Amino acid sequence: MSAEVGSAPAERRWRGLSVSEGLVIGRVLRIHKGARHAYPARIEIGDVNRELERFREAIALARGQLLEIKERAANLLGQDHAYIFDAHLLMLEDTKFIDEIEKYISNRRANAEWAVKVIGDRLLALYEKIKDDYLRERGSDIEDVVHRVLEALSGERPAYLDSLEDAVIVSEDLLPSAVAELDLKHARAIVTDAGGWTSHTAIIARGLGIPSMVGLENLCQYARTGDKIIVDSYHSEVVLHPTATTLEECEAQLSTAPSAAPHIPKAAGALRTTDGVHVRLRANVELPAEFAGVAKYGALGIGLFRSEFLLAQPGVMHSEEKQYQAYSQVAELAGENGAVVRLFDLGGDKSDSASDSERNPALGLRAIRFCLRNESVLRTQVRAIMRAATKGRLDIVLPMIADVTDVEIARRIIDEECGRLDAEGVACKAIQVGAMIEVPSAVMTAEKLARVVDFFELGTNDLVQYVLAVDRGNDKVADWFRSLHPAVLDSLSRTIKAADGAGIPMIVCGEMASTPAYAVILVGLGARDLSMTPSSIPKVARVLSGVSAADAEAIAQECLACASADEVENIVRERFLKHWPTLFTTKMLPAPRP
Ligand code: PEP
Ligand code: MG
Repeated sequence: MSAEVGSAPAERRWRGLSVSEGLVIGRVLRIHKGARHAYPARIEIGDVNRELERFREAIALARGQLLEIKERAANLLGQDHAYIFDAHLLMLEDTKFIDEIEKYISNRRANAEWAVKVIGDRLLALYEKIKDDYLRERGSDIEDVVHRVLEALSGERPAYLDSLEDAVIVSEDLLPSAVAELDLKHARAIVTDAGGWTSHTAIIARGLGIPSMVGLENLCQYARTGDKIIVDSYHSEVVLHPTATTLEECEAQLSTAPSAAPHIPKAAGALRTTDGVHVRLRANVELPAEFAGVAKYGALGIGLFRSEFLLAQPGVMHSEEKQYQAYSQVAELAGENGAVVRLFDLGGDKSDSASDSERNPALGLRAIRFCLRNESVLRTQVRAIMRAATKGRLDIVLPMIADVTDVEIARRIIDEECGRLDAEGVACKAIQVGAMIEVPSAVMTAEKLARVVDFFELGTNDLVQYVLAVDRGNDKVADWFRSLHPAVLDSLSRTIKAADGAGIPMIVCGEMASTPAYAVILVGLGARDLSMTPSSIPKVARVLSGVSAADAEAIAQECLACASADEVENIVRERFLKHWPTLFTTKMLPAPRP
């Protein structure tokens, strides 16, 4: 397991982007993404039976996973699309395939991984020779199954996580599906090779209040499950195989860190600026592990429930009934202030399966487009939400709306399902429907959009990505992801004005709202309702309660007149430190660019 057997591996350090602050010592839990490699190892004759047992257990585990996935696929995409997993299941039940692997293990005294790889490759080679295109293409099914069995053999499946008490999750990149499978109760930190400030790893880690760093480039090449690791996101550093001296230093730091939890006022989510402007702070939630934070941090309801995370939780989802239960829980959790449920925002960076076949998933069949193309999925979800709305106030927000047409089609479907539920005599509630404003076309047509929806939500994560054409999850372009770019500020200002003009509510729910300096600019631009990672509520509340909205507005106006992100950031640094020296330190403000 650990690389500490034999001579101790040398300490190695990585620098990356801190996306959730903290300091922890833990053990690596490697979560793999993509191709898996297998290596040969000769085993002792006495170990053959154990190896065979390991292989059989892996087959059983892989089979169980496939049955679950098949059920999810059938519910989500219909039976027609679930048949593909039958082929995978048949392979795992194919006695010839299994016998050949077992013989290889016994006769060659090979490790199970190598036997699976060799026999899988042989089968693949046979398929590659087949003339029939359809059959030849089934080779990818073999690759998939081999990968799944190797993964099961690796012992690194999330199901094994329960036993790892101090897990630091290390991955190339973490998809929401992987996160939902993890037992996050035991996770101490999350670090990834890829990612940016608004990547989902970052959002989730902040939601859970655990340290996180992204953009570590090649940590995954070196980190193995069980390795000792330090994540120090205060200093943007990860240390693998720390020496005894490094560990001692780290432990000393941990022992001097304040242990008492900061006092959180009960109604932190309802605040006034120093000149009496009311601002509401709500919570963004995606996983049950974050639910406790809603009340704990005093959120005024849930401004964004990222429903697509339900799809990834084994056994949850997809039937109307299961969704109904999940949304009912959200409604009850949100209390009198209600919750906004976003329709499945699938595709793009949110899932692998939907987007694997697309060249440019961020511009592909994502969010509302996915919902409209998979109408039965949309109808089931909408029915479940409307039924759950009898348990507490729920609104629906439509993700990634491009213009009024997207809204009109979605609304027609929602109205039809509302009528149908009524006719069936099922208890349900008519619901408010809002639009996520996160692409430039929505900003440019915001005045028209405001006439056909009940409210707006500003998704600044995607808005920055699409306005600036910067992939939000790509660490190589993280320097270009500038939330304070004047083009972004202009888009925010137009949207806020359009909502005000039409007299509809507007919630900002992107990560900008979680960041105190950005939150002040948002208030300066006219936002009065912000939704964020629950654990950010106290710090945002503290800062907003100490500033005057009029000052914030004056600064925001200056920023709007700038020509570049550098100029805006310079103004923000100067003005904030001058006006609010007790609220801001240089660390809380954008760093000057070299
Ligand atoms: C956003 O884009 O700002 C947003 C809130 O949604 P997500 O981060 O889930 O895309
Ligand atoms: Mg978004």
